[in-house]
Amino acid sequence: MIRLIYVSQARRDLTESDLQAILATSRRTNQALGITGILTYHPHGFMQCLEGEREAVEKIYARILCDSRHTEVKTLTYDTIDKRLFPLWAMAYVGLDDVTSREILRRHRLGGAAVPHYVSPEEVLEIVQEFSENVTRLVELW
Ligand code: FAD
Repeated sequence: MIRLIYVSQARRDLTESDLQAILATSRRTNQALGITGILTYHPHGFMQCLEGEREAVEKIYARILCDSRHTEVKTLTYDTIDKRLFPLWAMAYVGLDDVTSREILRRHRLGGAAVPHYVSPEEVLEIVQEFSENVTRLVELW
């Protein structure tokens, strides 16, 4: 299996219903392909972690790269793994205005805004690990 983490710039006029549509498609497709992970959103950007078999993750990531609802997609990590961080989540969703998630970002001196493009692979992995430890408190179910 592999774990891929990227950040991207959300399209400026993205609405709540756009986000709901992204999540609905993600959960349906990911479940069918055995992909799990987390998507975080802030008006300044997305961060997503995708975990699963290499072929499945690459297939979905190829689609994500072409999606006009975001730009400036930057792959931060692409690692072989033997254990998932989000085994129960076809795609957990966290809005970055959440108090716990702000605390996690503040611990990494990121000031509660979106995860920036300059974050290092090591640091983004630590952040994603902290999200996974708090996932049941953080996740918004819509
Ligand atoms: P179709 O639904 O047939 O769409 C065709 C094309 O239009 C694709 O390029 C698609 O990306 C784009 N598109 C579709 N709807 C819109 C829209 N409303 N506005 C603009 N462009 C649109 N999909 C997953 O399956 N799993 C994920 O984990 C996942 N995560 C995502 C994270 C982000 C930040 C974003 C922006 C999208 C994500 N998607 C995810 C959606 C993914 O990009 C595809 O839209 C989806 O997989 C459907 O692909 P399709 O080829 O069947 O496209």
